[in-house]
Amino acid sequence: MGKLTGKTAVVTGSTSGIGLAYARAMAKEGANIVLNGMGKPEDIEKERVGIETDFKVKAVHSPADMTKPAEIAAMVALGESTFGSVDVLVNNAGIQFVSPIEEFPIEKWDAIIAINLSSAFHSIRAAVPGMKKRGWGRIINTASAHSLVASPFKSAYVSAKHGIAGLTKTVALELATFKITCNCISPGYVWTPLVEKQIPDTMKARNMTKEQVINDVLLDAQPTKEFVTVEQVAALALFLCGDDASQITGANLSIDGGWTAE
Ligand code: NAD
Repeated sequence: MGKLTGKTAVVTGSTSGIGLAYARAMAKEGANIVLNGMGKPEDIEKERVGIETDFKVKAVHSPADMTKPAEIAAMVALGESTFGSVDVLVNNAGIQFVSPIEEFPIEKWDAIIAINLSSAFHSIRAAVPGMKKRGWGRIINTASAHSLVASPFKSAYVSAKHGIAGLTKTVALELATFKITCNCISPGYVWTPLVEKQIPDTMKARNMTKEQVINDVLLDAQPTKEFVTVEQVAALALFLCGDDASQITGANLSIDGGWTAE
């Protein structure tokens, strides 16, 4: 028996990177999984089937677009109708855009606030009634070191991540007596497609080479001079799902190689 056997986890943005690692770690502990995110249908299907065969659980994919409140509610409803409950909700979908503020495209601001912040409000709103009814729940939001400190050229991302840290604390207080915890995890730089994709724009914004961006911008922020791994982030989320973490709520847990200690 895994520690999540019989439970269901919805993980937004789980077709890639950190989200996929959360989904696989929770499936390994016996949870049925609602995958969510974009990508080629054949790639998503491969990950879905991989989870089912590797961990002997069930997995479905919700194509919900995290900019669309009705689709987010439908994703939670899909978990409840397919598996009977949504016990663990991981808000993780996120995008990045790097630009000086005066050139920052308005539609990129709107998209980042919608996907990185508002989607968590909509999914929590939809999942909490079932969690309250069953008297147990775990809500985990992927924030970022950028929920605690800022970097230039990331106005929308830093705003959304500071916002999700506040949402986490508020929800934790509201649910404190219902055996539902709400925490956020704040990674430093994790080597995923999201980080890889922002390198060209940072090269442009700061007039740097790729190596300079990796060593002087990304790893410069991290005293350990190493990237965090997706498996390390997933292991922390798994800990938050267990009984040992029942008194951890409203916390913002850094996993950032010392970045925010500076
Ligand atoms: P990623 O690009 O590998 O994955 C992002 C996921 O979000 C993908 O599954 C993608 O399909 C999904 N997504 C994007 N837009 C969506 C939309 N409109 N609707 C539904 N799904 C959507 O990125 P990642 O690095 O794994 O990032 C995951 C989370 O971790 C993000 O919230 C990010 O801000 C946060 N984070 C990442 C790092 C890092 O260094 N990689 C550091 C701190 C925080």
